[in-house]
Amino acid sequence: MIVLKFGGTSVGDAARVREAAAIAEAQPMPRAVVVSAAGGVTNKLLEAARAAAAGDTPQAQAAAAAVRQRHLEIVRGIAATDERLVALAELDQLHAALDESLASVTAAGSLAARDTDRIVATGEKAMSVLMAATLRGRDTPAIHVFADRVVATDGRHGSARPDRARTREQAAAVVRPLLDDGLTVVLTGFIGGAPDGSTTTLGRGGSDYSATLLGAALDADEVQIWTDVPGVLSADPRQVADARVVPQVSYDEAQELAHFGAKVLHPRTIRPAVARGIPVRILSTFAPDEPGTLVTRDSAGASDGLKAVTALRGLLLVTVDVPELEDLAGASAKVFGALAEDGVEVISVSQASSRRRMAYLVDATAQGGCARVQRRLVGVLDGADFEADVGCTEDVAVVAAVGAGAAARPATLARMLDVLGRAAIPVLATSQQDPNVALVVAVPVAHAERAVRILHDAFIRPQPASARGRRLRRAELLAESESRSVDRRWVSGAGGGGGELEWQCADSIRTSHPALRTEGRERRE
Ligand code: ASP
Ligand code: MG
Repeated sequence: MIVLKFGGTSVGDAARVREAAAIAEAQPMPRAVVVSAAGGVTNKLLEAARAAAAGDTPQAQAAAAAVRQRHLEIVRGIAATDERLVALAELDQLHAALDESLASVTAAGSLAARDTDRIVATGEKAMSVLMAATLRGRDTPAIHVFADRVVATDGRHGSARPDRARTREQAAAVVRPLLDDGLTVVLTGFIGGAPDGSTTTLGRGGSDYSATLLGAALDADEVQIWTDVPGVLSADPRQVADARVVPQVSYDEAQELAHFGAKVLHPRTIRPAVARGIPVRILSTFAPDEPGTLVTRDSAGASDGLKAVTALRGLLLVTVDVPELEDLAGASAKVFGALAEDGVEVISVSQASSRRRMAYLVDATAQGGCARVQRRLVGVLDGADFEADVGCTEDVAVVAAVGAGAAARPATLARMLDVLGRAAIPVLATSQQDPNVALVVAVPVAHAERAVRILHDAFIRPQPASARGRRLRRAELLAESESRSVDRRWVSGAGGGGGELEWQCADSIRTSHPALRTEGRERRE
C-alpha cells in the first residue's frame, strides 16, 4: 500500500492537479492520496477569517471569493461533465459552509482557534473533492474522505497532536474498506478531528505529517511526499549554487534537517514513519522520473560524509550564569518553566565548560526580542535565593551540518571549527552529542549564509559515481528500500536530538567580535 502526498504547488491549478492524478495512477494499488490546499489558498482563508473577526466584511468576502475562484478554475479543468457537476455541487456546499463560518465569526467579533481551523480546513476539503473527481474523470475509481473523520487528535486547535491509536482504528474502519473495494482514496492533509468532533489542524505545513500519520495507520509500504523541489538538497540552492539532491538520509538525519531549517519536510513528519519503519520518499512533481530522496531507518547507501548544511535564523542566545554549580538546576527549572509558559521554542541547550553557565538557543520571534525575554527571565529568577546573571544575544543563527557517519567522528567538528575559523566566522557555541547526527554551531546571523557556503564547499564532496558509473534509477532505489525496510537490526535509541547532550559556549569569541550585537547584561539585585 502506497500513500502519496501532494503539496500546494503540486495541486496549484487544473493542469497540475491532472499531473498529480497521473502520478498517483502510475502507483500500484492499494493507494491513498493525501492533498494540501492549492498553493496560497490557506493564506487567503486565514485572511478571510481575520477580516471577518475585525468586522471587515468586504475584505472577508473578497478573500472567500478569491478562494472560490481558485477552486472553480480547477473544477473547469475536469473534462468529464458528470464528474465536473458532482464536484461543483460538493464545492458549493463547502463554500456555503465557509460563508456561514465567516458570518458567525463576524457576529462574535473575535476569532477562536477552533473557528480558524474550521475555516482553513475548507482548502484541503475542496482539494480532496477536486482530486477525487479528477481521478474519476480519468476513469480511475476514486473517493474523497475528509480526514477529520480519520486522523484523531486532541483539542489543541491550530496545532493539534494526533492520537495514533485512535487514528489507526478510524483508518481501519473508514479508509480500509474503501481501499479494499479498489478505490483510490483521496484524503485531506493538515486536518484532524478533536474528541468533541470539531475540526482541528496540525500546524502550518502539516499535510506532510498527515501523510505519514495515515501511512502508519494504514501500514503503508511507502509514503511519497510529492513536492516542488527534487528532494532533500545538500543546502539551500538560493545560497549555494552547487547544492544537489541527497539520495538517501536516515530518519534521524531527516529530523535534524527539518529541525535546523531545511524547509522540505514539516519537522514532525518523520516520527510516525520511524515507529513502523516506513520508507519516506521525497519527490518532485516537476521531475517525476528523478529518484528524489529516500528516508529510511538506515542512512547508509550514499556515503558516510556530511550530507547537508542548513541554517536556522532569527534566534536568541540566552545565557544564565549562577554563582554556584548547585544553583544551576534550580535556575534551569525556572528558565524552562517561563519559556514553556510563553511558548518560546527552545532550539538547543548547552552548558558551558565553566559549568555555571547555561546557554539556551531560543526562537522567540513571536514573543519579542532580547529585551522581553531577558526582562521575563530576570523576573522569574528574582525569587531565587541566589544571584543569577541573564545575558542575551540577538540575531543568532544555527548552522547545522548533518550526516551521522561523519558527525560521529570528533575530528569532523574540529575540522568544521577550523574551516570556520580560517574564514573568520565567529562561533558563539557548538554542540556535542553522543552520537552526533548533526554538528551544530551558533553564529551571528550576518555570517550564516557564508558559513553554510564554506562548510558546503569543504565537506560536501562531488557526487560519487555509482558502481555502474551512473545514477541509481528509481526501480533500483525501490528494490534497495524494500530490502532495507525489513532490516530492523539497527534501531536508534536516541532519536534525532537525543543522546547525551553537551554544549560548549565560546564566550570569548562572543564578546570580542564586533559583528555581534550583544545586548547589555542585566544583573538581578
Ligand atoms: N495547506 C496547509 C498550509 O498551508 C497545510 C500544508 O500545506 O501542508 O499550511
Ligand atoms: Mg504547503
